[in-house]
Amino acid sequence: MVYVPSFMNYLDEYNKQKRNIHTVDDWVKFRNEWFDESQWPLKTPFQLTEESLRKRGPKKIAGRLWVYTTYMYDISPEARYEFFSALYNIGHPLLFNYSGPKTAENGWNQNCPYCEISTNEIGDDTCPVCTRKLLYSRVMD
Ligand SMILES: [Zn+2]
Repeated sequence: MVYVPSFMNYLDEYNKQKRNIHTVDDWVKFRNEWFDESQWPLKTPFQLTEESLRKRGPKKIAGRLWVYTTYMYDISPEARYEFFSALYNIGHPLLFNYSGPKTAENGWNQNCPYCEISTNEIGDDTCPVCTRKLLYSRVMD
């Protein structure tokens, strides 16, 4: 059975606190409280092998070229999406001094942590597989 981190069981409180993150200190406190990765199970070597066989790429989806991504923790896709959504939309903008447009030339890609796909062909921000909103992240992050 897939592991669901505890923040997924307290989404009201989690979302309330998430809306009140305004500074790096707020983010660090939030991250420490909700994202205790040391408690999350790592994927097993078997799972990683199975994934790398399944995730042969790149793959053309809806006119864009995508590569598969892999996350080392074995958590539910919903939790993975929420974790990376908070990280990329809230944490990283506070931690890193972004400037300039979110283009591939500036190192940006669009990705869906739920489907574990990523593209540097920046475009429509709806995941072509699951219709969740794609997240922006930068290669150097
Ligand atoms: Zn998706």
